[in-house]
Amino acid sequence: MQSPVHITFLGGLGEIGRNCAAIELDKRIVLLDCGQLFPYRHPGVDSILPDFGWLLERTDDIEGCILSHSHEDHVGAIPYLFRQISVPIYGSPFTIGMVKSKLESHDVKIPPLVEVGDNETHSIGPFKCEFLPVTHSTPGGLMTLFRTPQGVVLHSSDFKLDPNPVDGRITDLKRVSEVSKEEGIRLLLADSTNTENDGVSSSESEIGPIIEELFIENEGRRIIVGTFSSHIHRIQQVADAAVKTGRKLAVLGPSMVRNVSLARELGLLKISDQIILNEKDLKKTKSTKVCIICTGSQGEPRAAISMMSEGRHPLIEIDKNDTVIFSSSPIPGNEASIFKIHNSLARLGAQVVHSGKLKVHTTGHGKAGELLALHEASDPEFFVPVHGEYTHLLAHEKISLNRGMDTSKVLSCVDGDRVRLDENGIQIEDRVSDSYLMVDARGVEVSSELVKQRISLGGEGFVLIRARVDKKAKRLLELPFVETLGWIELEDKAETVDEIIDEVGNVLDVALKDGVFDQNELIRLVRRAVGKLVDLKTGRRPVLIPLVEIN
Ligand SMILES: [Zn+2]
Ligand SMILES: [Zn+2]
Repeated sequence: MQSPVHITFLGGLGEIGRNCAAIELDKRIVLLDCGQLFPYRHPGVDSILPDFGWLLERTDDIEGCILSHSHEDHVGAIPYLFRQISVPIYGSPFTIGMVKSKLESHDVKIPPLVEVGDNETHSIGPFKCEFLPVTHSTPGGLMTLFRTPQGVVLHSSDFKLDPNPVDGRITDLKRVSEVSKEEGIRLLLADSTNTENDGVSSSESEIGPIIEELFIENEGRRIIVGTFSSHIHRIQQVADAAVKTGRKLAVLGPSMVRNVSLARELGLLKISDQIILNEKDLKKTKSTKVCIICTGSQGEPRAAISMMSEGRHPLIEIDKNDTVIFSSSPIPGNEASIFKIHNSLARLGAQVVHSGKLKVHTTGHGKAGELLALHEASDPEFFVPVHGEYTHLLAHEKISLNRGMDTSKVLSCVDGDRVRLDENGIQIEDRVSDSYLMVDARGVEVSSELVKQRISLGGEGFVLIRARVDKKAKRLLELPFVETLGWIELEDKAETVDEIIDEVGNVLDVALKDGVFDQNELIRLVRRAVGKLVDLKTGRRPVLIPLVEIN
């Protein structure tokens, strides 16, 4: 009997983000992606990562880490994890370049970095891995075929089927179907992001002419384009439109500058030196001959567009001669901050163009029709949908079932599931933790208790009460002190604080006369009395901080 293959899903199944799986044979582990999830309503948390507890108990078993592409939901947890492990990282040259600068900026020791070319095969741990090109919204995406004693396991990476991609690099379904016919694909793990959208996505190369048309229409105005800094093909099309319409290009924002420079070095982005303006040249160049490309299209508060919209960008002041193009679509959760920026820019006089108005963006994820084509080409024996919210995963299951797969061959998995693939088929064997590991910008852990407290403080404010007690005299040493923030309107504060002081005084007087001197009991009495009063006054639940000192 051949050894079974285990796959442990540490993230990405039930959310768009923190994609991470461990594929394992004979106790040797290869990691497949190591991403982060951007927090939404988690105050003071900069990044949500997979819970690596299970993995960190087995650091000696980890042989390597494959990164399918450079997006943060696939690489964002690398600096955190690689503070604790050091194994070779495999990825395309662009992915490796991005990760190297990420590790450097976090002061993490660089592990061996292995650049993988399209259609190459590498032995990684116990697996022979074949890497196939995929088209996506960042260059160098790679599908991985793991050759295992239990057959071929295919991980799709994030992909779309674009017949006419900007760099000509087409998702290699031909090779998938060849492998399927020659060896058979035992298990398919595939991107579910766009399963709920029928049909096929439009080609990235359709965006260029629309942008160019916009540039022509906006002659005599300054143009600012916001997009993802890893979307090199979009940046290429913006640069081409600038060249064709006689503009020069200024690149703003640290990640945009870094990625443009990396992509130019690797020959993935073709922009001549003559076109690029440095800061000094930007100041000297007529604004109507300038195109600024920058980050912030997702409403990130520290990014260039956000700073411009608030009039606090050191180089760019927005006025009525500006056209700002958002060449992206809002990632769910970011809508409110993006619309706020649209409005602020419009108030400053700028014309705002976004994907809701004009087709200045297309997705990097294949829609239902493209996913079906992958299923047809791979014709897998078993299927597990990955990379998606729960509803996306379910919709992806339907695609495979409608194609004729038996329900027993399609396995629904979520974060934390550990599946076993062997001669008898596939099943969920076990569970590991699926909890959120929340970290701040320094990579320091933030507990869920702390986040709960911050949410509660942010929503309700706090009331601090301090009372000093004279044990001998069985009375208060002075009037209790009360301070509150974020709970009550300023004009009502003085009166309400006085009422709390009276209430605390009364409660403590009674207790002390009854001979209660236990500090915890006195604190409990104060908390109960103030809680009741606060509820009566406002119906809110601010955080209460009662302190009783016994002298
Ligand atoms: Zn992606
Ligand atoms: Zn992704």
